[in-house]
Amino acid sequence: MEREKKLYLKTFGCQMNDADSSKIKNLLGSMNVSSTSNPKEADIILLNTCSIRWKAEHKVYSELGRFKNIKKTRPHVIIGVGGCVAQQEGEEMFKKVPHLDLVFGTSNVNRLPEMIKKVERERCHVEETEFFDRPEPLVYPAPEEDGMRAYVNVIRGCDNFCTYCIVPYVRGREASRPAEEIIEEVKILVEQGVKEITLLGQNVNSYGRDLSDGIDFPKLLRQVAGVGGVVRLRFTTSHPKDLSDELIAVFGELPNLCSHLHLPVQSGSDKVLSFMRRDYTAKGYLDKVEKLRKMRSDIALTTDLIVGFPGEEDDDFKKTLELMNEVQYDAAFSFKYSVRPGTAAAKMKDSVTEEEKKERLKILQDLQMEHGNIKNGQEVGKVHPVLVEGESKKGDGMFMGRTSGNKVVNFKGSEEIKSMIVPVKIINSSANALFGEYQLIH
Ligand code: SF4
Repeated sequence: MEREKKLYLKTFGCQMNDADSSKIKNLLGSMNVSSTSNPKEADIILLNTCSIRWKAEHKVYSELGRFKNIKKTRPHVIIGVGGCVAQQEGEEMFKKVPHLDLVFGTSNVNRLPEMIKKVERERCHVEETEFFDRPEPLVYPAPEEDGMRAYVNVIRGCDNFCTYCIVPYVRGREASRPAEEIIEEVKILVEQGVKEITLLGQNVNSYGRDLSDGIDFPKLLRQVAGVGGVVRLRFTTSHPKDLSDELIAVFGELPNLCSHLHLPVQSGSDKVLSFMRRDYTAKGYLDKVEKLRKMRSDIALTTDLIVGFPGEEDDDFKKTLELMNEVQYDAAFSFKYSVRPGTAAAKMKDSVTEEEKKERLKILQDLQMEHGNIKNGQEVGKVHPVLVEGESKKGDGMFMGRTSGNKVVNFKGSEEIKSMIVPVKIINSSANALFGEYQLIH
């Protein structure tokens, strides 16, 4: 039997990449490859990359540079790059990094075992980055390392072409997976002990538009929620323009659909939203938030925000703060705008100075901190069912898990409650987390 090999896999960026990395681990696991966190003892080194943020390529190349010595001393080691940077750069990467062995695109993850075998056999550069019309078929469903959560891709790519975003260029057009295949994957995951399923896509709400079986995203959600053993169901990411009344209604129907929605608003100014080509207005967005809260009063809302987009003036920025005050998000990911080469916004004049961007980001993040404190403070005294993920980084017998609203809770626990859903009374809070007491069930 072939000796066990070690894989060092580093993942950058979004949940789509996390899901692909889980899939990579499972695929290679079937080739007697286990994971290591030390690149120096690895036989296969893979970077799963993201190019959403500025300088992403730069980071990847400097990371690859670090592996040059490893390749020198242990020439059998296979070094590969996947994800969005690989998709964008393709064969060019071999010219820039001669010690690189393989480059695989966002649609080519399933081909990885064959690509690795080819490198082992022929010791040549191997590159596969073509898009396929349909997402890759299911090979090995992949739970997360905790064994009880899993991401399931339902749609790949994006047709929206928001002016700041590179995704449609590196992930291709929207392509939904057939519902039967998704349900099959969910069933297998549940049999493996998975309790929480997150359906993933760059824009999940578009699910099914490219299929002819009449199954759209609300219908898919109902089908997945109906699989026995799916205790918790989540989905991300949703484009506000595609958040239909029917999808909102599903929150009122399905008890195992979690009380959380990530709904990226990006800006509160209609002018900036139109520059971003987001296809909704601040008022339209707020109307949807109101409907959601009527349907599920306890729903936690999170968002993404960009400050300093080309053309954003003080007044536009104020509108973003006003929208935040109106919604009071539970959490927000906020960024200074930076140019992504190849996008439509890259041709716009970057009119906001770095100083202004920094200042606006600080004001926005301070406001979000206030809102996070208020929203989490409202949880104190309540008892939440918490899915226990494992020991908390805080150590000292502390465990961590998440509420249905996706809020992190730290509490004193013990090994036997790991992977269980247990009641936890919230006794304290900060802007980013809750602290609780496990309520023993007698
Ligand atoms: S919806 Fe816009 S921001 Fe989201 S992936 Fe598509 S183009 Fe990018």
